[in-house]
Amino acid sequence: LEEALNTGYSILEKGGLSLDAVEATIRIMEDSELFNAGKGAVFTNAGTNELDASIMDGSNLKAGAVAGVKTVKNPISAARKVMDKTWHVMLSGDGADLFAKEQNLEMVDPIYFYTQRRWDSLKKIQSEKHGTVGCVALDKHGNLAAGTSTGGLTNKKWGRIGDSPIIGAGTYANNKTCAVSGTGQGEYFIRGNVAYDISAIMEYENLSVGKAARKVISKLSDLGGEGG
Ligand code: ASP
Repeated sequence: LEEALNTGYSILEKGGLSLDAVEATIRIMEDSELFNAGKGAVFTNAGTNELDASIMDGSNLKAGAVAGVKTVKNPISAARKVMDKTWHVMLSGDGADLFAKEQNLEMVDPIYFYTQRRWDSLKKIQSEKHGTVGCVALDKHGNLAAGTSTGGLTNKKWGRIGDSPIIGAGTYANNKTCAVSGTGQGEYFIRGNVAYDISAIMEYENLSVGKAARKVISKLSDLGGEGG
């Protein structure tokens, strides 16, 4: 985590873009086994790894996301490519993997995502609640950016997509308000439009980020979900 933070911070310190800081920071966490993203992604009930990620630029509300990818080593960079190189916001499944390959991103055999710890937790059918990674950054130019990357929930049905790649649910950034990256049970974040709701409450009700976030998280609990 320290390495990830230092990487992002040094980009910001040199006057770099928040978007670049977010992507670089998340890549470090994706390459670590310690987080439920990239290398350390959890398993679906079919014993596969299906990864989701998204990124958003608060200066122009551009965004990119990939869902259910299986062979791209760094899904956050695939999300960034969707944002930069297409007019779409989200690509999913095989098409998203193919796109990442065409963009010359590093591809891996699905076995790369096998880790003993995540395999054992699938076998125990324990729900791994922690480990999704997220990053928000504010650069010297006043631009906010947010990104999120995850393997989803352990034992999820294959094909299930959570909130992390959904702009407005798990990720949102707007220079006018805030940058948000969520973690928790994605189904509730989607139903509650959590990330966008925090930004909207700040904009429409003129509340601070802390108050807006608390309000939205309490709505999330009312729905029966939890997260942060
Ligand atoms: N929000 C993620 C999902 O539902 C999981 C997590 O944050 O742990 O896919």
